[in-house]
Amino acid sequence: MPENTDRVLNKVRRRIKKAGLADVQVAELQGSIQLTGRVASWSDKVEAGYMAAGNGFRGVLNDIAVDGVADSEMSIPAAADDSLEGRSFDAVIVGGGVVGCAIARELARYNISIAVLEKESDLAMQASGRNDGMIHPGFAASPGTKKAAYNVRGNRLYTRLAEELDFQLERPGSILLYRSAWMKLIVPVFRNRCRRNGVDGNWRSLSKSEVRRMEPNVTKRQQGGFFLPSAGIVSPFRVTIAFAENAAANGAEFFLNTAVTGVDSLPAKHNQESYITKVLTNRGRISCGLLINAAGVWSDKVAEMAGDRFFSIHGRKGTDAILDSSCRPYQNHITGMPSLLNTKNKHSKGGGLVPCVEGNILLGPTAEEVPGREDYSTDARSFDSLLEQLALNTQFDKSQIINYYSGVRAANWEEDFIIEPSRHVSNLIHAAAIQSPGLASAPAIAEDVAAMAVNALENGGMSVGLRKSFNPRRQGIPCVKEMSDEERSELISRDPSYGEIMCRCEMVSKGEIRDALHSPVPATTVDGVKRRVRAGAGRCHGGFCLPRVIKLMAEETGLELTNITKKGGVSGILCCETKAESYDADEENGSED
Ligand SMILES: Cc1cc2nc3c(=O)[nH]c(=O)nc-3n(C[C@H](O)[C@H](O)[C@H](O)COP(=O)(O)OP(=O)(O)OC[C@H]3O[C@@H](n4cnc5c(N)ncnc54)[C@H](O)[C@@H]3O)c2cc1C
Repeated sequence: MPENTDRVLNKVRRRIKKAGLADVQVAELQGSIQLTGRVASWSDKVEAGYMAAGNGFRGVLNDIAVDGVADSEMSIPAAADDSLEGRSFDAVIVGGGVVGCAIARELARYNISIAVLEKESDLAMQASGRNDGMIHPGFAASPGTKKAAYNVRGNRLYTRLAEELDFQLERPGSILLYRSAWMKLIVPVFRNRCRRNGVDGNWRSLSKSEVRRMEPNVTKRQQGGFFLPSAGIVSPFRVTIAFAENAAANGAEFFLNTAVTGVDSLPAKHNQESYITKVLTNRGRISCGLLINAAGVWSDKVAEMAGDRFFSIHGRKGTDAILDSSCRPYQNHITGMPSLLNTKNKHSKGGGLVPCVEGNILLGPTAEEVPGREDYSTDARSFDSLLEQLALNTQFDKSQIINYYSGVRAANWEEDFIIEPSRHVSNLIHAAAIQSPGLASAPAIAEDVAAMAVNALENGGMSVGLRKSFNPRRQGIPCVKEMSDEERSELISRDPSYGEIMCRCEMVSKGEIRDALHSPVPATTVDGVKRRVRAGAGRCHGGFCLPRVIKLMAEETGLELTNITKKGGVSGILCCETKAESYDADEENGSED
């Protein structure tokens, strides 16, 4: 709280009034600044939220209503049962994104029971599966922020994790292109930023010709660049799944299609803090010793359910396009050309061209404030702004785009991560408002949250020991496409199903798909298979492999073909049999021939 609360509140009131938002009220609520009232547009609400931030309060509760815009509703699974009723876990993590799964893996080092509850039909279905896969170097965040510290530490940790958890990590480095010669004048600022944040590697300014040598197809508009060699790339969903599988192999339990809808709490015995006893879900009530809030865009709602509402989230949508893998040889580094004068998107790193470990190129992301926290639509406006970024490489044009997608960042008004134990609930920890660079930061966030969790459990009277059997290593699914001829022959001679190619675009074998269906946190949907082994991720979008994948899923899981879905819920693919053995078209047509 600021020292002179009234003076600060009045200052915010004056600024909001000056912006013409006369129907907005400003007050203090339990250490946070609360905005109520009504405005005409979403951008007015966003403007007011930022005016309230950075004034020394704990958080901003932006409760302003917007004419004609309903509050975003959390989607929860339609199905309900009581299969988890009465279960009990020492630690319950809400959210199966990269943050929740990395925390589960860190916590699995201890001898405690862990549950991860994810409302979607698979892991990494929200921001963690809809991002750019960049392991940012840690340059973009302002020095002194949590974002900066976790990003740099997380970036470093990825080297060991890629080896332990068997996922692909490459470090092509990133080049921040200068738009104009005068940008060279601020290179000392860039250097200072790198030094203060502790960014790894031999970061340096490059001349125009050095940039051209490193990136021969770069736009002629560039006037040099700033090189950050520690920037890396991963497959974000494969990383999430790797964390989860290793956690599961070490005892953590994962429950998909399981939404947290409320909590039961008691006042704590010896102080004023409350204490969560049970987590309410669509599958029953679960007792928990500790609740960890890693719920992404819904982390403020989970905080509210738990009785600790002090911040609010606003969704910032980003759209990306995917370029065909034939483009990969023409782009060596992550490349962007942010405009330092762009005040419209001052909370975005600017987007650009990002090579993917899978061999494609990503274009984006854009940044747009949106009311819908699960609004994954794409539109022509975003596409047009992506085309500007496409022009960074002279070999690329829009005919090479094979797909688009959107994700929504969980931004708070202070624009920094919230990673802390609750001040009001003794067994609640927040890993909230993890917008970009959340993927890069997740390993470091997980280390700290696990330490906070052990501390909270011990404060609650539990003695937490290390799990002696903890195995930090995971063996991923073999990737037939990436193998040498000798390795492939050897694998196929052991198991011929690795020689039966089901997805021709991405060269994915039956053996790999079968492995995805039997992995420690198995794929239960067609998209789940795609996320794990890339069947259907190529140029034909599953036109060839989809029927084969569905058939194999039915054979391996015992599910009816008609019960197999694209992404859970009502996304069924087949509705009935059209060529049953007893079906006789002639009979049906009444033909006598
Ligand atoms: C377009 C875009 C590009 C990005 N690019 C990068 C990048 O290149 N590098 C980088 O470091 N970061 C990037 N980010 C940010 C990064 O994706 C996120 O910071 C990170 O994925 C956040 O992980 P998370 O686990 O906190 O959230 P999420 O992945 O959103 O996971 C939260 C999970 O909680 C679940 N959940 C919510 N409420 C409940 C409930 N009540 N019950 C049960 N489950 C619930 C949700 O379904 C969700 O799966 C990008 C983000 C976007 C949108």
